[in-house]
Amino acid sequence: MMTAPTPAPALTKAIEVACPGCGEATWYSAQNPYRPFCSARCQGHDFGAWASEHYRVNAAPTAAQDEE
Ligand SMILES: [Zn+2]
Repeated sequence: MMTAPTPAPALTKAIEVACPGCGEATWYSAQNPYRPFCSARCQGHDFGAWASEHYRVNAAPTAAQDEE
C-alpha cells in the first residue's frame, strides 16, 4: 500500500518580518512567493531601485580617466 508523501509543514516555519518595500508586517514563509516582501509590487519596486543604483555605479567613470 502506497503512502502519499506528506507536504512539509511549511506553515509552522513562517516568520513575521517587515516588508523591505513598505514596512508592513508580512510572512517570510513558503506560502509567500514574494518573501521577504509583502507583494509583487513591493518586490518589483525594490529591485528597480537596486538596479538603477547598480547601473549608476557602473556608468560612473573610474580608473579609465586616470590613463590620460
Ligand atoms: Zn510591502
